[in-house]
Amino acid sequence: MLNIILFGPPGAGKGTQSAFLVQHYGLVHLSTGDIFRANIKGQTELGKLAQSYMDQGQLVPDDVTISMLESEVDNHPSAKGFIFDGFPRTTAQAHALDSFLDGRNTPVSCMLALDVVEEELKARLLSRAKTSGRPDDANPEVIQKRIDVYNAETAPVAGHYALQGKYTGVDGVGTIAEITERLRAAVPSE
Ligand code: ADP
Repeated sequence: MLNIILFGPPGAGKGTQSAFLVQHYGLVHLSTGDIFRANIKGQTELGKLAQSYMDQGQLVPDDVTISMLESEVDNHPSAKGFIFDGFPRTTAQAHALDSFLDGRNTPVSCMLALDVVEEELKARLLSRAKTSGRPDDANPEVIQKRIDVYNAETAPVAGHYALQGKYTGVDGVGTIAEITERLRAAVPSE
């Protein structure tokens, strides 16, 4: 099993680069943001709850997010591995993911962290808003809130995996192909 956490701030390119990793390594892509957005579209109870946080640039509560992610993993019993995109976003989520995967004897293989400076992130998100239809991309105040939440609550998750020797930082500025190649070079051989 190859379990990759693709990490980085909003707008770093996690979704874009996931597409390559999925195809190249035959992995299942689990994006918590995508799953929440599908629930919003389907007007589920989970979607209604998630939307109230997402529209403000806040994190959806850990208990809801963790149980959703765990059931998604269990929905793919024959997966060769997973790309976790947008999860874990808090140290509590990281501890939950570690114990959940350790319990299945399929621990996290590595964390690949896309590194992009804040000004570039803001420009990318505003540009993405033109085509994404995402309300959280269109509002500069919500973008700033997401970046602040990332710095306060999510960035420490990198230290959690660095302590386990699983962290690799990757320069997230360049062409899509250049960044793809940097990621490929950083994936541990099985
Ligand atoms: P981005 O990385 O561009 O911010 P995502 O699609 O990953 O976009 O996330 C969009 C929003 O979904 C987040 O701002 C947050 O409200 C919610 N969300 C996604 N993943 C998580 C998570 N692991 N924990 C809590 N909230 C999450």
